[in-house]
Amino acid sequence: MGSEATQPNGATDSRPVLFFDIDNCLYPRSAKVHDLMADLIDRYFATHLGLPEAEAIVLHKEYYRDYGLAIEGLVRHHQIDPLDYNAKVDDALPLEDIIKPNAGLRKLLQDIDTSKVKLWLLTNAYVTHGRRVVRLLGIDDLFEGLTYCDYSTFPIICKPHPDMFAKAMKEAGVERSEDCYFIDDSYSNVESAEKLGWASVHLVEEGLPVPETQASKYQVRHLEELRRIFPQFFKSN
Ligand SMILES: [Mg+2]
Repeated sequence: MGSEATQPNGATDSRPVLFFDIDNCLYPRSAKVHDLMADLIDRYFATHLGLPEAEAIVLHKEYYRDYGLAIEGLVRHHQIDPLDYNAKVDDALPLEDIIKPNAGLRKLLQDIDTSKVKLWLLTNAYVTHGRRVVRLLGIDDLFEGLTYCDYSTFPIICKPHPDMFAKAMKEAGVERSEDCYFIDDSYSNVESAEKLGWASVHLVEEGLPVPETQASKYQVRHLEELRRIFPQFFKSN
């Protein structure tokens, strides 16, 4: 994977960018990473704030609702070191047991013509977690970069805030929103990107209820459908 901030051919590279969310997008929700993470977050709240478990769960939910990320509430309202939190929550997940190389996903990504589009990761996780997941999936070499949520800055910038999408554009070296393509499983992330003019795809996995109103023009059940939606990016054979 390339470095986050620099583009070797930035001046001449006019390729559009296809941004991929990572968690619950490049691996299925059924992997239950989210549930495991929620348990670790509850435990972190209980241990570091000295709360009974029931109160920890309530506060975790409250911060998630108010800020989109539990860590933001911890940093705003308590003297919590966000990188200690990352080490004890995201980096403590037993992902090696859960996430395995995905040959089908690798084939899909390899069928994309990278002379026509740049592949970039865009996650609300910290860099360590994001890199670990794509390495375990066996696809880390197929992306040119990663824009992540930097827990060490305050205020924390993350999707769906427009600043996070602006940061991703800057890091991926793309200037016009019409050159941005995006896939994510989060309704609010997709809705926000679509409003900014990105061509956005909402992944609603098979078995999950579809929203009453679509988050964006495109809604898919599987990443394979990207072949149909964006045929211009795939190698012809
Ligand atoms: Mg996601």
